[in-house]
Amino acid sequence: MKLIRTTIAVAAIASIFVLGIKHIENVNDSVVNIPDPILNSHVNQWKAKMTSNNIEWRSGLNRIESISFGKSEGHAGLSYNNKIILDPILKNDIFKLKFTLWHELGHAVYKLPHGDGIMIETIPDTKTIKLNWERLQDDYYVKCKKFEFNVY
Ligand SMILES: [Zn+2]
Repeated sequence: MKLIRTTIAVAAIASIFVLGIKHIENVNDSVVNIPDPILNSHVNQWKAKMTSNNIEWRSGLNRIESISFGKSEGHAGLSYNNKIILDPILKNDIFKLKFTLWHELGHAVYKLPHGDGIMIETIPDTKTIKLNWERLQDDYYVKCKKFEFNVY
């Protein structure tokens, strides 16, 4: 009888432990607060792209407190104090929105400096982004992979 009780106790502890691990994994996947559902879906797309290109992003993304639309002091996007803020005007232009979001995630997650491609300081016009989006992405993956150590 004592042996059975011990077995049940061990089983109970084991199941708590397993749930505990699952819980931590869930939290790690959704630490950053993204109130806007469209912005959230763009961040999910970005995560999927980074994952499929074998680039780590979790710890870096989880340093960010929030990604939201708001006053961005005349910039299309801002990344500061662990927050990414995007100008609400970007809601009207999906390509500029993606470009700016990826740019700010480049700063916040990989500490990418300004340069060319997506990390250029001035946002290109919509047509330029649209025509070059595939190439811009490929160049961005190379940059992020090079600075992947900044994620940790
Ligand atoms: Zn920038």
